Amino acid sequence: MNTRNFEVIIIGGSYAGLSAALSLGRAIRKVLVIDNGKPCNRHTPHSHNFLTQDGRSPAIIAETGKEQVMQYPTVQFMDAWVTEVKKEKEQFIVFTSDHQNLTAKKILFATGVKDLMPGIESFDDCWGISAIHCPYCHGYEYKGKKTGLLANGDIAFEFSQLLHNWTDQLTIFTNGPSTITSAQADQLVLKNIFIVEKKIRKFQHHKGYIQSMKFRDGSTFQLDAIYAKLSFEQHSPIPEKLGCKINEQGYIQIDEFQRTSIPGIYAAGDNTTSMRSVASAVAAGTKAGAFINHDLISGN
Ligand SMILES: Cc1cc2nc3c(=O)[nH]c(=O)nc-3n(C[C@H](O)[C@H](O)[C@H](O)COP(=O)(O)OP(=O)(O)OC[C@H]3O[C@@H](n4cnc5c(N)ncnc54)[C@H](O)[C@@H]3O)c2cc1C
Repeated sequence: MNTRNFEVIIIGGSYAGLSAALSLGRAIRKVLVIDNGKPCNRHTPHSHNFLTQDGRSPAIIAETGKEQVMQYPTVQFMDAWVTEVKKEKEQFIVFTSDHQNLTAKKILFATGVKDLMPGIESFDDCWGISAIHCPYCHGYEYKGKKTGLLANGDIAFEFSQLLHNWTDQLTIFTNGPSTITSAQADQLVLKNIFIVEKKIRKFQHHKGYIQSMKFRDGSTFQLDAIYAKLSFEQHSPIPEKLGCKINEQGYIQIDEFQRTSIPGIYAAGDNTTSMRSVASAVAAGTKAGAFINHDLISGN
């Protein structure tokens, strides 16, 4: 098996990974980006709130980024899934699904997170289209519309306060007994926000655009959009296996220079923060690229 050597291997070649590759390519570093093409926003037709790219499709933004990055001759891109990373003396060995054996001095995980679907029939068909995660990304398109929030407890209470900025037709669906306190419910009523505790059977939709929610008791509720606070897991389990500290919220712990708790390993983008946006991922990737280059120069 051929071993190929790089200064930096970036695992994950979406917004964070490509931005890091751009900084490193411009620093004339020998870089390999490995990506298997499953960014978390791939289901959404239009990406919003990233300056110069507002309303463009997520894939077009990433393709444009990749085209620009690949103009730097020291950067290579590989379409593959990374299965394992091992630390051996002063270097890392990266193994891929197509049996490649690669080495690098530094590793950047820009691997993102995986949203866990809630197990409601047809929810997945609506995810990213009319079942959405963030009002800054998609709230403007549904302003003033009949909107749901699939969440419970304190999170539902706090998120609903924010969403009320975009619509005064908001209903919280707890999909089972509500854990919102009665004091919180009283405050919600003042804003005309009501709570529905019925168990949800399915989303009725047309091409991902929700029309109504059907409950297990057979009744329905008409909706134009629904926000969902989903659980998530790290898209790649490798950082944790390597010993990188994961914080209580499930994100890779990093310092202000994108370094993880393991020397030589960095992380950037959604895998490190709940501030989930293309702009934030791009900013973090740019920073990671600059500090990896800095550490290569200073021998850290
Ligand atoms: C439905 C939805 C809609 C959104 N809409 C917007 C919006 O309108 N505006 C906005 O600003 N933000 C939006 N976001 C948030 C935005 O998409 C994310 O913040 C952004 O994609 C994070 O970029 P990232 O590079 O960290 O991770 P991702 O874009 O998720 O990319 C991670 C990449 O790493 C790859 N990868 C993971 N593990 C491996 C491995 N072991 N080997 C190889 N490759 C691997 C994945 O395949 C993927 O390509 C949305 C998110 C969702 C879920």
